[in-house]
Amino acid sequence: MNSNILVFIEQREGKILPASFQLLALAGELAAKTGGQAEACLLGQNVSGLTPAVASYGAKKIYTVDNAELRYYRTQPYTTALAAVIGAADPRAVLIPTTALGRDLAGRLAARRQAALVIDCTELVVEGKDLVATTNVYAGKLGAKFKLSGDRLQVITIRSNAYSAAEPQAGASTPVQAVSVTLGPGDLRLKFKELLSTTSGIKDVTEADIIVAGGRALKSEANFKIIYELAGVLDGAVGASRAACDAGYQPHTRQVGLTGKTVTPRLYIACGIDGAIQHLAGMRGSKVIVAVNIKPDAPIFQVATYGCLCDLFTLVPLLTNEFMRMKG
Ligand SMILES: Cc1cc2nc3c(=O)[nH]c(=O)nc-3n(C[C@H](O)[C@H](O)[C@H](O)COP(=O)(O)OP(=O)(O)OC[C@H]3O[C@@H](n4cnc5c(N)ncnc54)[C@H](O)[C@@H]3O)c2cc1C
Repeated sequence: MNSNILVFIEQREGKILPASFQLLALAGELAAKTGGQAEACLLGQNVSGLTPAVASYGAKKIYTVDNAELRYYRTQPYTTALAAVIGAADPRAVLIPTTALGRDLAGRLAARRQAALVIDCTELVVEGKDLVATTNVYAGKLGAKFKLSGDRLQVITIRSNAYSAAEPQAGASTPVQAVSVTLGPGDLRLKFKELLSTTSGIKDVTEADIIVAGGRALKSEANFKIIYELAGVLDGAVGASRAACDAGYQPHTRQVGLTGKTVTPRLYIACGIDGAIQHLAGMRGSKVIVAVNIKPDAPIFQVATYGCLCDLFTLVPLLTNEFMRMKG
C-alpha cells in the first residue's frame, strides 16, 4: 500500500459530478501531507474523453476502465472494476462522493476489499500519520471523529460541497493507465433495461450557483410555481425544506439540510423556511443568504445576510418581475 489517495470520479453519460472535483482538491491537500499524490479512477463507457477535465482539476494519475457494461451504474460491475483499479493503484484511501451511487458503491467495495469504511464525512484531515474523518451524529448536534489507522485500505465518502474544487488548470496533462477487467456472470446478473430520469432539464441543488428554496409556508405543490419562476429567471435551482418535502410539495431530491443535500451556492433565497438547525446544517455555507419570512424571530434571520420580513406570496412574484425587467 502506498501513500496515494484515489478519488472515484462519478460520471453519468459523460457528465462529471462536480463533487468529484472537490474530492480531487481534498485528496491533493491530504496526500501532500502524507507524501503521496491524488489519483483518479474513471469508470464507464468511452470515458477517455473525460481525462483532460480530470487532469485539469489536479489528478496526478488517472486509472480508467472502459467497458460497455459500465455505461450505466450497477453495483456489481462497478465494484469489480473499482476493486481492480485499487489492485493496480494500491492507494491508502479511496474517496467517493456521498451520493446515492457513492453510498451504494462504498459499502460493497469496503466489504469486497475488507476495508475500513466511513460514510458521509463532513471533514477529513491528517493527524500524525492517520486520517481522521468527522461525521455528523444526533441530527448534526455533535460531530463523531474516526481515526483510521494506515494498516488497511480506507473507503471514505465525503459530503458534496464540504470542500471546494481547485481552479482548473487548462492544458494540464497526466499519465493515464487503462485497467483491464473481466466481468463475470456474477457481476452481470442484474440486467440494465431502461433509464427513467425524474429530473431532466431541472438543475440539481448541489450543482447550482443560485438556489431559491421554499418551506412548509408554500402550503402546496402548486404554490411552488412562484419559487420555480424566480429560480428560472435567475437561472437557479429549486430547493426545499424537509417539511415541504415530507408534505409532498417537492421531491426529496430537492431537500436541503442534514438529511438532505449540503449546498454552498453564491446566493440562497429561503422563502417561508423557519431555519431549524437541521436545515441550516445544509445551507449555512452559502455566500449570501436572503431570508423571506413573516416571523421576526425566525432563526433563519440569524444566518441571513439580508432579511425580508414580509409575506413570500407578495415578495417572490415582485422579485421575479423585477429581475425579468432588469434582464429585459
Ligand atoms: C433528524 C432530523 C433531520 C432533519 N433533516 C432536515 C433536513 O435535512 N432539512 C430540513 O429542512 N429539515 C430537516 N429536519 C426538520 C427540521 O427540524 C424542521 O422541521 C424543518 O426544517 C421545518 O421546515 P420549514 O421551515 O419549511 O417549516 P416550519 O418550521 O413550519 O416553518 C415555516 C416558516 O414559514 C414562515 N411563514 C409562514 N407563512 C409565511 C408566508 N406567507 N411568508 C413568509 N414566511 C412564512 C413561518 O414564519 C415559519 O418560519 C430534520 C429533523 C430531524 C429531527
